[in-house]
Amino acid sequence: MTAFREAVIDLDAVTRNIRTLRKVIGTPHVIAVVKADGYGHGAVPVARAALAGGADWLGTADIQEALALRTAGIDSPILCWLHPDGADFAAAIRAGVDLGVSSAAQLQQIADAAGGGTAHVHLKLDTGLSRNGVVEEDWAHLFRRATDLEKSGVLRVRGIFSHLSNTSPSDDRAALAVFNRGLALANAEGLRPGLVHLAATAAAIDLPDARFNTVRIGIGMYGLSPFDDRSSADLGLTPAMTLRGRIAAVRRVPAGTGVSYSYTYRTADESTLALVPLGYADGVPRQASGAGPVLIAGRQFPVAGRVAMDQFVVDVGDTAVAVGDDVILFGDPAVGAPGASDWAAAAGTINYDIVTRIGARVERRYSE
Ligand SMILES: *Cc1c(COP(=O)(O)O)cnc(C)c1O
Repeated sequence: MTAFREAVIDLDAVTRNIRTLRKVIGTPHVIAVVKADGYGHGAVPVARAALAGGADWLGTADIQEALALRTAGIDSPILCWLHPDGADFAAAIRAGVDLGVSSAAQLQQIADAAGGGTAHVHLKLDTGLSRNGVVEEDWAHLFRRATDLEKSGVLRVRGIFSHLSNTSPSDDRAALAVFNRGLALANAEGLRPGLVHLAATAAAIDLPDARFNTVRIGIGMYGLSPFDDRSSADLGLTPAMTLRGRIAAVRRVPAGTGVSYSYTYRTADESTLALVPLGYADGVPRQASGAGPVLIAGRQFPVAGRVAMDQFVVDVGDTAVAVGDDVILFGDPAVGAPGASDWAAAAGTINYDIVTRIGARVERRYSE
């Protein structure tokens, strides 16, 4: 029985998506990125499904996310890379969590936190994105310092990595060239990182030279395409999340009836309105008012009027619907549902944003 509102997560799809991508990409290592609660899918179950599909590492943004995986009993290698001032490096090191390093100061703080153990780090180079990562002028100093700390045994440089901007193929190739300069310099300074990683899903698929021996896969694992011009099906992927609910009320109304706040929609003819109990509090973007598609009784209809905090209305015309009927907001287009990408287009955002924003009030249910 479908809950009032729920996100159903197909963990088998996650496992299959990883297998499919590994076949295409062919690198010895895959880091499955489960930050932001697994892009809204649930970090722990997704992590297990990804490992079952052959991912050998997990990636998170921050230390707390990594420690939550350890608390759940996951003992695979984990890398986390975004550290606020005062981040608890000692806890990460104790838990065997690898740390991305974005400055010489961070490297020193991590060495200081090693507490008799060995910290495992991946040096992050800025190759153009201008976010975190060490800028090129500071590479020589960073690499020398890392080599010294390796010799003293407080840390081991397990990886060197960067992240692409996806601005254009030529911008990404330029960043790749910068990254290759960094690798050459690191090698000259005596570093021998086991993992070299630059590509996230898009470049892992489209830019073979960016694969090195490791890729970081996020969106593709969730079955969504990072490309505007290729669908999940084009990439052989299955969307893992289906967002659904049940119709909460139905009424027959005359022509000219105003619908939802500000009456931005009025019925053209006598019609049936179905009330869907999901709103922007649940992550349904208000920006998709009047546009976001839903599947009801085997047909797609757009939201009628404004998306409100808890609900929105669909004008189903003369389609026979009843309270309790299923409504699918997005899922797998291969089975007739709208896709997360359709909602992204309706809201002027990207599919990443659509799945990640689903609110806490929406129950997660796992199907295998
Ligand atoms: C989020 C993130 C990824 C995953 O990107 P996708 O496009 O979802 O595959 C990879 N690397 C870093 C550094 C990230 O922040």
